[in-house]
Amino acid sequence: MITRLLDPVKDRTAYTEAATLLRAGEVVGMPTETVYGLAANALDGKAVAKIFAAKGRPQDNPLIVHIADQKQMYDLARTVPESVEKLASRFWPGPLTMILPKADCIPDEVSAGLDTVGIRLPSHPVAQELIREAGVPLAAPSANTSGRPSTTTSSHVMEDLGGKIPAILEGGPCTVGVESTVVSLAGDKPRLLRPGGISLEQLREVLGEVEVDRALREKIGDDVRVSAPGMKYRHYAPKAPVTVVCGDPERTAAYITRHAGLDAGIICFSECAFQFEMHERRVIGSSDDVQTQARRIFDALRAFDDTNVREIWAQCPDDKGLGLAVANRLKKAAGFHVINVV
Ligand code: AMP
Ligand code: MG
Repeated sequence: MITRLLDPVKDRTAYTEAATLLRAGEVVGMPTETVYGLAANALDGKAVAKIFAAKGRPQDNPLIVHIADQKQMYDLARTVPESVEKLASRFWPGPLTMILPKADCIPDEVSAGLDTVGIRLPSHPVAQELIREAGVPLAAPSANTSGRPSTTTSSHVMEDLGGKIPAILEGGPCTVGVESTVVSLAGDKPRLLRPGGISLEQLREVLGEVEVDRALREKIGDDVRVSAPGMKYRHYAPKAPVTVVCGDPERTAAYITRHAGLDAGIICFSECAFQFEMHERRVIGSSDDVQTQARRIFDALRAFDDTNVREIWAQCPDDKGLGLAVANRLKKAAGFHVINVV
């Protein structure tokens, strides 16, 4: 199969072509503000199955349903608590996914057999236009081969899924760079299942108490039932093994200098980059600019796969704000191989 790159800036018919594919039960790579998604008609189980096939995604990992209008939420969820409306008016359109009891129209392929559904209204204008033109909600996980780092440019998507999907819609580099925050509102208390573009602090401003799922902090064994099944798999992993070093940036840089071999690749903060001139390195931004770090993290994790690097060392931001999401992606890429420097 030849994968076409459809660019709506060059040609308005890009939307119609992508929407026609989606209505015909095909999958399409779609830009969002978080990462690129691999989209299919969320109400068509057979179409959704093609997402799992193209990505090599485990069947028990559910997908997020993307909508272009808040009202669509009432068709997809069985109940919508008041807290959901509060969160929607504050954070939508934007990088927040809410888990709600699912309506009967959601096929099992989307919810992976759970009785809940994840719903998000993305802010990327290209995603919104595509959902509107398709006329159906779009189920979409990140548009990467399962297990690899997520994709934040159309070339990343082409790298992983070129030849396996009919088209990718161009939308430029993603402005948030890490996936949406996933919060469950289907249980007794709000629970953070995945940190992302909206911070835990921001959620607590609206909801008060928010529990944090333990899968965020530690590696979960295959035999354990988790609330967000995606959390248990090896994820975001480059080919070379990753070690994450947490702590004060000056100290973590010194630690890495002492321990990294010459064939090591380094993911570092800009103010520490001079210490790694002898290494393959990817600079993710200064240690106090976590937004830039979020935008660059997946590209940095992908970049070493084309080099001779045999191990990767990464400086890690602390858990404040968006730092929780960046640190989580790094730790998962490292299979939770983390060193705390004090
Ligand atoms: P991805 O967009 O590739 O990161 O995958 C979607 C993420 O959302 C996965 O980590 C899923 O586990 C999570 N997710 C989607 N739907 C649900 C749901 N109904 N319950 C819990 N987590 C979900
Ligand atoms: Mg993913």
